[in-house]
Amino acid sequence: MADEVLYERRGALAVVTMNRPRYRNAQNSAMTYALDAAFARAVDDGDVRVIVLAGAGDHFSAGHDIGTPERDADTSFPRRAAIWWDHTDRAGADRRYAREIEVYLGMCRRWREIPKPTIAMVQGACIAGGLMLAWVCDLIVAAEDAFFADPVLRMGIPGVEYFAHPWALGPRFAREVLFTGDRFDARRAYEIGMVNRVVPRAELESAVSALGERVAAMPAFGLALAKRAVNQCEDQMGMRAGMDSVFGLHHVAHAHNAEVTGNPLAGLDPTAMKKAAS
Ligand code: ZN
Repeated sequence: MADEVLYERRGALAVVTMNRPRYRNAQNSAMTYALDAAFARAVDDGDVRVIVLAGAGDHFSAGHDIGTPERDADTSFPRRAAIWWDHTDRAGADRRYAREIEVYLGMCRRWREIPKPTIAMVQGACIAGGLMLAWVCDLIVAAEDAFFADPVLRMGIPGVEYFAHPWALGPRFAREVLFTGDRFDARRAYEIGMVNRVVPRAELESAVSALGERVAAMPAFGLALAKRAVNQCEDQMGMRAGMDSVFGLHHVAHAHNAEVTGNPLAGLDPTAMKKAAS
């Protein structure tokens, strides 16, 4: 297992931890593929009943890696599912679409459908691509210091690739989050039903363990069916089809940026994103 992700068994719980605390757990591809491997390991381990997704350090995840020294968007990794072809020998929209349908939309969807309950344990920043990882989990427990945002409209992009916003936030608040790019805190996330629990930072781990153990005591096959039941109904409410249509809009925005500014992210790195926020 790569250092980007740590894997630990705690009784019936597997704890999968994003481990780039120096970069607020910004997700490069090495981390994304390591997460994929860690989830597969937890699914295949018959003694694991519940999977916890955590972030090392003060923050859950600052989102996709758009500016650290280990950014590896041009690197090819062995793929677990052949949803699309490898991106590295392609150009333009072909390249971007291939990469993002694999590491962003495709992996997030597969992780959402893992047949074991998953719990996101969120502290500090949970921004953009960080939201995607929290949203694919079945349950979210947030520390009081957690904060959330999807500010990618500052790049002219209508939300991150896994477009769960209207379902996770409700349409009204989703618009506000997208239109302003502003942060919202754990209390607000609780009020709108995006997170299950908000607990003091010091009690985050124990609260997640207690919830995880409670869930783990239920019949495993029943849990898998209940999870699938809720996911299927969410998809009947339009989530899967909505995401497919919005993924096209997302890529229109990338292509527009590339055409007009020469850069699919409109030339914005994390520093410029922060400046655009003020
Ligand atoms: Zn994108």
